[in-house]
Amino acid sequence: MPSARDAIRDLALAQGFDAVGFAPADAIAHAGQGLREYLAAGHHGDMGWLAARADERAHPQALWSQAKSAIVVGLSYAPADDPLTALERRDRGTISVYAQNADYHDVIKKRLKAIARAAVERFGGDVKVFVDTAPVMEKPLANAAGIGWQGKHTNLVSRAHGSWLFLGVILTTLDLGDAAPEEDHCGSCSRCLVICPTNAFPAPYKLDARRCISYLTIEHKGPIPHDLRALMGNRIYGCDDCLAVCPWNKFAATAREVAFFPRVELKAPLLAHLAALDDAAFREVFKASPIKRIGRDRFVRNVLIAIGNSDDTNLSPAAQARLADASPLVRGAAVWALNRLMPTEVWSNLRTAHARNERDETVLEEWNALTAADVMVREGEPPTI
Ligand code: SF4
Repeated sequence: MPSARDAIRDLALAQGFDAVGFAPADAIAHAGQGLREYLAAGHHGDMGWLAARADERAHPQALWSQAKSAIVVGLSYAPADDPLTALERRDRGTISVYAQNADYHDVIKKRLKAIARAAVERFGGDVKVFVDTAPVMEKPLANAAGIGWQGKHTNLVSRAHGSWLFLGVILTTLDLGDAAPEEDHCGSCSRCLVICPTNAFPAPYKLDARRCISYLTIEHKGPIPHDLRALMGNRIYGCDDCLAVCPWNKFAATAREVAFFPRVELKAPLLAHLAALDDAAFREVFKASPIKRIGRDRFVRNVLIAIGNSDDTNLSPAAQARLADASPLVRGAAVWALNRLMPTEVWSNLRTAHARNERDETVLEEWNALTAADVMVREGEPPTI
């Protein structure tokens, strides 16, 4: 008869997971200190939810005192081709690989629940399941469970699956034995740090989320900071650069999970089309996607930043149409995009026509800030149109 650990591993593999590991629930006592330092430095930006339950997050047993073990699973979403090639297509947006099809929370949670149910039926105990939405530190747990290590880009790296694993955790009151932590195999490699377009790593293994394009395009609610906009290129949802250059990816087989095969229309969607999405159309296009979580206004804001970075004057009408948008967030991003695409004189005429009717302070700031700063900078630059 297999041990509970072996049987649960078989259950997880039968559910399609690519990696399975086990760790005592008290195995990541050290991780709380790193979290506290991260929060103290303000690197979490406006992700208040990270700070709000920091004590629970620091330790599984602070979240659930009866937990004895963590079952950690990984599901590969390794792409078939290089996701960075989409960055060259400036009239199109780049969507992070993980978001090009189904919402992984939905895919993983169902399967975690199936494993948890079967484990309880066979071995008893109580269970709770977590997929990136509750205060559980999945990456340190995955490290303790032997699935991989937290690389210099702070994400999990696996020798078998590279940097492309979704993680899920089941906490259980069963004692499933000792940890078998994976060692750090980053060595002297620093590709992920070097490639970052916004210089978001103050040091190896430390990420300042406030500069990270994943944070800026997904978590950040307000206008994107001016100094980071031009660095975002055409990344409209997330960023894969630091993951995609990880040399361990060469050992990763392409994901087998059909739910993560890229939807053709999300591989490199046309920016002009995306900028025109209203709320209903946005919800229809992204109804089964994680992208729906950020809402239409934040998404179109990102699209307008990409339009501003496109050097493609054919996209000016798409941005100009958004000057009358109901969302100040969208109007403000449209102002910036047009400033980048239009000759100074044409843009100034637009400003005269629109700014006088603008009542929102943040949008007025865009018109005024751009008049004061960007136009002056542009005058000293070679023309881009
Ligand atoms: Fe930098 Fe992109 Fe990695 Fe964020 S996801 S740290 S912006 S390379």
